[in-house]
Amino acid sequence: MDKAIFDKLLSATKKYKIEARLDAGFDKLTTYGTGGKIALTLFPDSERKLIKIMRLLNRVGVTYVILGRGSNVLASDDPFDGVAVVTTRLNRFVVHKNVVIAQCGVSTVALASVLAMQGLGGGEFLACLPATVGGAIVGNAGCFGQDIKAIVQSVTVLSNGHVKRLKSEKCQFSKRDSIFKHRNMTVLSVKFALSPSTEETVKKKIADMRAKKSATQPLEYRSAGCVLYHDTVSVSRLIDEMGLKGYRVGGAEVSTKHAGFVVNIDKSTSLDIYLIIRYLQRALLDRYGIAAKTEVRLVNFKEESNDLFAKRKE
Ligand SMILES: Cc1cc2nc3c(=O)[nH]c(=O)nc-3n(C[C@H](O)[C@H](O)[C@H](O)COP(=O)(O)OP(=O)(O)OC[C@H]3O[C@@H](n4cnc5c(N)ncnc54)[C@H](O)[C@@H]3O)c2cc1C
Repeated sequence: MDKAIFDKLLSATKKYKIEARLDAGFDKLTTYGTGGKIALTLFPDSERKLIKIMRLLNRVGVTYVILGRGSNVLASDDPFDGVAVVTTRLNRFVVHKNVVIAQCGVSTVALASVLAMQGLGGGEFLACLPATVGGAIVGNAGCFGQDIKAIVQSVTVLSNGHVKRLKSEKCQFSKRDSIFKHRNMTVLSVKFALSPSTEETVKKKIADMRAKKSATQPLEYRSAGCVLYHDTVSVSRLIDEMGLKGYRVGGAEVSTKHAGFVVNIDKSTSLDIYLIIRYLQRALLDRYGIAAKTEVRLVNFKEESNDLFAKRKE
């Protein structure tokens, strides 16, 4: 990073009272526990500070990545000569009747337990995601037939330096996708509308979902959930069908419990995981003509295009 820009960013973080670290790495900020050091990592703790720093980052034109809990991010092992903005300190929310407004860094697990206590239904799946609200919105996260799209009323974003509110219909939610994956927008907060239920019913649904998750997914290992997806086909089933469960590179392998997961089983590097992802994409394309998209966000890899294989077929 240009020294003048770096100095400018550092002095801005002092002025705005944003914690800045020069020694952080993706290994401590992602659920995979892998990835290189980051030149500058920022931890804004209010929406006002997040807005100020995002405006500045866009103005100076530096490479940056926003991180929630890093549960859908695979960052390369190389040093990242850019800025990571971590949102987890923006963790306030308000509940009014069946409506909840949550800042982007609110933990989905914490939110789910509040919804349960309030007897509000429709967001039970949030308890199964090791995520922030912002990250869950970007990837339209969900499981067991529920997804975040169904409970979103509107999303407040920073776009081109302006704060805007997008109604749910404008967010272009689809399978593991939204407008926020394709446009340079920072999700600031989200307004949810839940359905009336009872504490007992919601807690029971959460317990059932969690039991199903731990019975079918390798939660004992570090991962980023399912790494690939396709709009119409179950990619996990096809990986299983090809006999690729247990396929290993270095310290990473295709989970033997759930073929959609690539897990860090023994001090894996990001490259080990990346090579498996690309191998699976190639195998799916060659055997079935399926162009699977990467669900996990690849950061600081030379070839970051999710459409690398899609370009060849379909
Ligand atoms: C064990 C395990 C199980 C999982 N199970 C599921 C599952 O069942 N269903 C599912 O959908 N996912 C699942 N995941 C994946 C992951 O939890 C979700 O994708 C989650 O929504 C990511 O949230 P996050 O806060 O960690 O986002 P991150 O991983 O930090 O970020 C994801 C993307 O969103 C961007 N982003 C984050 N916050 C903002 C913001 N405020 N503004 C703009 N961009 C932002 C990031 O830059 C990145 O591109 C699982 C992961 C793990 C580890």
